[in-house]
Amino acid sequence: MNRIYNFSAGPSMLPLPVLEKAAAELVCYGESGMSVMEMSHRSPDYEAIIQDAEAMLRRLMNIPDNYKVLFLQGGASTQFAAVPMNLIKRTGKADYAVSGQFSGKAFKEAQKLGYDVKCIATTKEDNFDHVPTITKDMIRPDAAYLHICFNNTIYGTKYPEIPDTGDVPLVADLSSCIISEPVDVSRFGVIYAGAQKNMAPAGLTLVIVREDLLDYAEEKIPTMLEWKTMAENGSMYNTPPCYTIYMAKLVYEWILSIGGLDVMKEMNVKKAALLYDYLDSQDYYIAPVKKESRSMMNVTFVTGDADLDKKFASEAGKAGLKNLKGHRSVGGMRASIYNAMPYEGVEALVAFMKDFAAKNPKN
Ligand SMILES: *Cc1c(COP(=O)(O)O)cnc(C)c1O
Repeated sequence: MNRIYNFSAGPSMLPLPVLEKAAAELVCYGESGMSVMEMSHRSPDYEAIIQDAEAMLRRLMNIPDNYKVLFLQGGASTQFAAVPMNLIKRTGKADYAVSGQFSGKAFKEAQKLGYDVKCIATTKEDNFDHVPTITKDMIRPDAAYLHICFNNTIYGTKYPEIPDTGDVPLVADLSSCIISEPVDVSRFGVIYAGAQKNMAPAGLTLVIVREDLLDYAEEKIPTMLEWKTMAENGSMYNTPPCYTIYMAKLVYEWILSIGGLDVMKEMNVKKAALLYDYLDSQDYYIAPVKKESRSMMNVTFVTGDADLDKKFASEAGKAGLKNLKGHRSVGGMRASIYNAMPYEGVEALVAFMKDFAAKNPKN
């Protein structure tokens, strides 16, 4: 076995102990005589798996009892439509902050559906090199919700704090930072996340929704998008993404076994600090993101020379440091250092960066 360090933004690395446990159980799960992939989602064995997954996530994130946990399909992108369709009826209008590509797509989707939505803040004119500052007075008091993307995967930015939205429910896309550190769930009306960044393989979308927000869905909403239907059916209105939920359960179990999100955060802080401290200590590489908006999960940097950037990503790949090329829309480099990336992976990256800088002087 020769596993490399995979810095992909998603799908991305999974913890090795999780993969090993999944491998050991792949063909025959417990006493069931079959693989989890072959199981009816209505069988007692599977019921136990999905219930354990929810219970473990609740413990991990300290999710209050008045929140529902939904295991859905369609990716985070499907929630761009589901969010307004489930919530807009509360007041008839909604506000958005646009801090990068995904929050821009969420805003556009709501516009496309014909809703009264307003972009109250954006950092587009600064190439999204920081997140907007959001204060209560910027939000329309009769907005059904404010939508934000908490961690901007492509630009490598994150809100340093949860914005205070007063009585307006905060809806947040946490796809690329979920379970990387403790968050106060009670500050949010809705949290959603695609699983393939930090939680599981692709195919699962997590929605955590406050119960009182389940009563505002449009009458014409497609059943599959309606959170209330999914909540009432324990995420089993139809066939859920069974195997991916099982993988998520193994990931939750792994984080609980190492000490939960406090320990996870400590490890993530240490990894990010190693990389950012190096970036701040030299001037060969430039980290474009403003310090107060830096993401702990996605670290972006450039050499300032597009050809060198290309060479960097290619040579790093050959050295076993894969997928460091930045998003196709922004170029440069991006190191995604999610929960499953070991500290040694970031050490190897920094060593490579030093070596590359020494061997490729800029003129
Ligand atoms: C990856 C990503 C998405 C898109 O997720 P899909 O599951 O591919 O739809 C949305 N938002 C954020 C923040 C992401 O990182």
